[in-house]
Amino acid sequence: YFVLPFMIINILMFMTLVSSRPLLTNIKLSSPNQTTENNLCIDTLCMKTASSDFGKLIQELPFGVLQPLSVSDIVRLVNTSYTSSSPFAISARGNGHSVRGQAMAKDGVVVEMSSLNDSNNNNTGIRVSGNSSLGFYADVGGEQLWIDVLQATLLHGLAPVSWTDYLYLTVGGTLSNAGISGQASFHGPQVSNVLEMDVITGKGDLITCSKDMNSDLFYAVLGGLGQFGIITRARIVLDKAHNRVKWFKIIYDDFAKFTKDQERLISVDGFDYVEGSLILKNSPADSFFSPSNESIISSLASEKGILYCLEAVKYYNDQIINTIDEELQVILKVVNIDSGLIFTKDATLFNFLNRVRDEEVLLQSLGLWEVPHPWLNLFVPRSRISDFNQGVLVDIISKESLTTGPFLIYPINRKGWDARMSVAIPEEDDDMFYTVALLNSVGPAVDPSVIDKQNNRILEFCNEAGINIKQYLPHYTKKVDWMKHFGAKWSVFKEMKDRFDPKMILSPGQRIFNS
Ligand code: FAD
Repeated sequence: YFVLPFMIINILMFMTLVSSRPLLTNIKLSSPNQTTENNLCIDTLCMKTASSDFGKLIQELPFGVLQPLSVSDIVRLVNTSYTSSSPFAISARGNGHSVRGQAMAKDGVVVEMSSLNDSNNNNTGIRVSGNSSLGFYADVGGEQLWIDVLQATLLHGLAPVSWTDYLYLTVGGTLSNAGISGQASFHGPQVSNVLEMDVITGKGDLITCSKDMNSDLFYAVLGGLGQFGIITRARIVLDKAHNRVKWFKIIYDDFAKFTKDQERLISVDGFDYVEGSLILKNSPADSFFSPSNESIISSLASEKGILYCLEAVKYYNDQIINTIDEELQVILKVVNIDSGLIFTKDATLFNFLNRVRDEEVLLQSLGLWEVPHPWLNLFVPRSRISDFNQGVLVDIISKESLTTGPFLIYPINRKGWDARMSVAIPEEDDDMFYTVALLNSVGPAVDPSVIDKQNNRILEFCNEAGINIKQYLPHYTKKVDWMKHFGAKWSVFKEMKDRFDPKMILSPGQRIFNS
């Protein structure tokens, strides 16, 4: 039901947009396998991939897809658009794991970044360098997946320090947002662990930037939602990798105690990762718990309606396997954990970091991965987290029980976030803020619009209650909302756009400058 109409649309698009062809025929690419005379792929598969994403909520057809085999291919494409009297939109597509069309380019060209990974070309790949006195780092192509960065760096006994929960995302894609997980309190988000980048601006210039070199571009690109340039290389901070982890999940029925313990754990040295999530009456089983523990937890969740699960991880090496438990007892005493139900598990670092892949494989097998994902991700000021809990998590999410989530909630230390980066976080002067991820997946029983309405009610509640949230992975369609989102950063954001992408060519799917 999908392919035939798609092919027809594809042909119609090609015919109706034929006027753009002379423009695009100028692009002489090094790619031998592009399927059209204008060097862009317009076959059904290319177009289908480029016009969809993980969210499955939005579909926008590009004119064609560039499958670059070198960075110069992308430079030439951007240059062609920039020097043309009628510039066309260009969007880098990392792994397409946005949920609202952010990597799409309606009637423009989508650059399929993964093509740079072709083993036959001279790609940027992943190169590890440095030494113990000056520090280690990896030069990584913007198209690389974090799972590949992990595997390549572990071969050297090293690893990046800051992660996302899920590793099948590209370096360019997460650096365009922030890249957060339970390590962000200890090392800052991924955007704070980049030493240098190569970026193709909207003028088609390939520029190397860092804190000291072209720093305006460097900070603009970090969390810049793809607006200022296409990241083709990032130099990522590495540290010596541990090989094992002690993994804790602690269950609470009291929100105040849960958040107090989370905040304590991110305020002291000891743990390497702290997150948290909701357990609701209808939450699916978590393979972390044994079946008997799972049944205790689920009957408690049915009784209470909502439970909170603190998740903390301590990295360690085989050499201290005999002393790690004593060490942990000392840390837990210091933080004075306030709970009755503590569960632990031992895992390899790799299996812990790659934990969401197991869930993906399971959901794929149940046909529940390739479904719509009307997600809402928020940064909430710490001072209002208790009001947010009552008004949103208890009164809306738990009571309405529309889907099973997952729903994440954890505090992040602000100190790792350089204010010069584009990414917007709560403006409140506090040393922590909370991240809340309402990661709804909808099966056939629920229409995504029902969740969208719920999301809107959550945003309205925050607005009426004066809770000054910021959206993470933001989605707005009106410029006025974007201006409010960036707040004090808007004028610099706009100035950087005028400077590095004055014809507003890049990442139109974010709908910031080209709504
Ligand atoms: P895409 O969706 O392809 O692109 C995102 C945006 O970045 C687009 O605007 C695109 O044009 C731009 N872009 C892509 N590549 C480049 C580049 N090289 N240079 C410049 N701009 C570029 N995020 C977190 O922070 N923490 C998490 O734990 C986390 N978990 C996730 C789990 C899942 C299952 C999913 C689907 C997403 C998760 N995310 C998480 C969100 C994720 O970080 C973003 O959606 C990210 O944009 C996805 O990366 P991508 O490579 O798929 O980017």
